[in-house]
Amino acid sequence: MPQFRQQTLLWAILVGAAAGLVCGWWFGEAMAPVAWLGDLFLDALKMVIVPLIVAAVISGIGSLGDVRRLGRIGGLTLLYYLLTTASAVLLGLVLVNLVQPGSGIDTLAGGVPEGFADKETTGFSDIVRSLISPNLVAAAADTQLLPIIVFSLLLGAALTTVGEHGRTTLAFFDGLNEAMMKLVMWIMVAAPVGIFALIAGRFAEAGGGAAFLAEVQAVGWYVATVIGGLFLHFLLLTAVGQALARRGFSYVRAQGRALVTAFGTGTSSGTLPVTMECAREAGVDDRAVRFVLPLGATVNMDGTALYEAVAVMFIAQAYGIELGLAEQTLVFITATLAAIGAAGIPQAGLVTMIIVLTAVNLPLEGIGLLLAVDWFLDRLRTLVNVWGDSVGAAVIGQYIGANDAAAAPAAPQPNA
Ligand code: ASP
Repeated sequence: MPQFRQQTLLWAILVGAAAGLVCGWWFGEAMAPVAWLGDLFLDALKMVIVPLIVAAVISGIGSLGDVRRLGRIGGLTLLYYLLTTASAVLLGLVLVNLVQPGSGIDTLAGGVPEGFADKETTGFSDIVRSLISPNLVAAAADTQLLPIIVFSLLLGAALTTVGEHGRTTLAFFDGLNEAMMKLVMWIMVAAPVGIFALIAGRFAEAGGGAAFLAEVQAVGWYVATVIGGLFLHFLLLTAVGQALARRGFSYVRAQGRALVTAFGTGTSSGTLPVTMECAREAGVDDRAVRFVLPLGATVNMDGTALYEAVAVMFIAQAYGIELGLAEQTLVFITATLAAIGAAGIPQAGLVTMIIVLTAVNLPLEGIGLLLAVDWFLDRLRTLVNVWGDSVGAAVIGQYIGANDAAAAPAAPQPNA
């Protein structure tokens, strides 16, 4: 998309988001009838996710060339994501210990929300098992992206080893990837209206601004701690992007459409097509866009990680349960795992938090304290999740580019 159109679209989306916020805040439930327009936009994005991921990952692996290189880059990507996720949890833990948002909270409002009690069994083995699906069609139907990515990775790797036929098939997926990106561009034309409707519709569901503020006030310090932590982590990631990939605040603007879409939809998987389009247009190495971003949208969730740490400690503080260094270390480890295990869909983090709560024997009823404001915090943590993925792609893209340059044969010296 030409630069001018990109900028115009970004402004239109920002205006749509702001208008959604204002209308939803003031008119509350009266805005409910526009919600379907937002759902339509989100459905259009979801429509392209599975074919886009399959085509992008397979062609991305194909363009890396050799499987050993894939192993190195894949390992580095996972290490990078793990480190940033862990740093987000650490930041959350430090803040929640400093602010103590849970002290003095009335725990009577707590309660296990419906459908949560039977999820108690979610554990480490479930996260590992979620990598492989016995039925790819069912996984695609449920938008369970991780097994689809794993399959595409394996298929892409296999295709690079089977000679001519493999190359033809890879060329097919290359073409499919280009076509899917074009579809995303077309869908994004509807983004200003879609995002307006998503935000206005969600505020309508919350009963408008006044009702929402009343909910926020009940757990004000908790909300402030999560938002403050997310903001600091956003800045930290920006600094990492600047230091390792020379992409700082200008990259925030380049990813603006993806960030607003993340806030509007509350799903990093749903936003993935937009994140990929923005990263591509910003000139991030295409192999990183096709390989690192889909992986990031499913396993890298810095915002969710930070939120899980703050939320769990908040529950402990509200119930007057002291968690020492050993327990907080357990929170650190399990919150990191829980964020990796969370799907990139709205409020998935609230469900995987059960892993953390059970690890340190906290009452699941505590989740009830967070419910009313969770949809809003979810939007913000999704935005940080998407930013984390985008910076990750830029950093790994920079590495791949530098590696190419190092591997390229030196230019022939002119004869003296
Ligand atoms: N909604 C978040 C995402 O899609 C996940 C979560 O934190 O609930 O990235």
